[in-house]
Amino acid sequence: MEYAYRYGDPGRLYLNVTNRCTNRCSFCIRYHTRSLGGSILWGGPEPDLDGLREAVGARGAPEDFNEFIWCGFGEPTYRLDLIKEAADWLRSGGATVRLNTNGHACLIHGRDVLAELAAAVDAVSVSLNAPNCQRYLELCHPDPASIPEVGALSREDFWNATLDFLTRAPEYFREVQASVVAFTLSAEEVEESRALARSIGIERFRVR
Ligand code: SF4
Repeated sequence: MEYAYRYGDPGRLYLNVTNRCTNRCSFCIRYHTRSLGGSILWGGPEPDLDGLREAVGARGAPEDFNEFIWCGFGEPTYRLDLIKEAADWLRSGGATVRLNTNGHACLIHGRDVLAELAAAVDAVSVSLNAPNCQRYLELCHPDPASIPEVGALSREDFWNATLDFLTRAPEYFREVQASVVAFTLSAEEVEESRALARSIGIERFRVR
């Protein structure tokens, strides 16, 4: 897989560092294609910091970008270690760092990692994806087997983890956004999701 890719705005560089994910979303693009924006995002080993540096370097220097975005064909916070290691270098040219996440980082690592993430990331976009637990399970199919080392988890734990992450995120990150996928929800469900986000203090809401 390619570890760094452009998609749209040339001032942004996306970082794709794992194909592991806690969800099996019915709408996930990775079940339909191995590539995005001409870059292969699926398959192969995960990078270490040197591998990531090499991939970014092939696209430009840190100062050539306004924003780096941890986002790809998997849940980036599996690579919390790399997100933390790369932070100073990614910011060295003045760029900000964004994380696109499903909000399961604390479940994945079996502890509260928001403070660690906040030291390495300026903004987060959290995939809320649903107005309630039932619809989340129907659409996102969280898989407890995706993090066996944490022990017994219910599928509902994943919805609760997303809500917990979103609820506490404004304490830690400069910018917090919740998002849903338009074609998977009715117009009413989109508004219910927006209202849910607002009820936990998240005003920035994206229908993607
Ligand atoms: S959380 Fe994201 S990467 Fe994981 S299955 Fe869902 S859409 Fe795909």
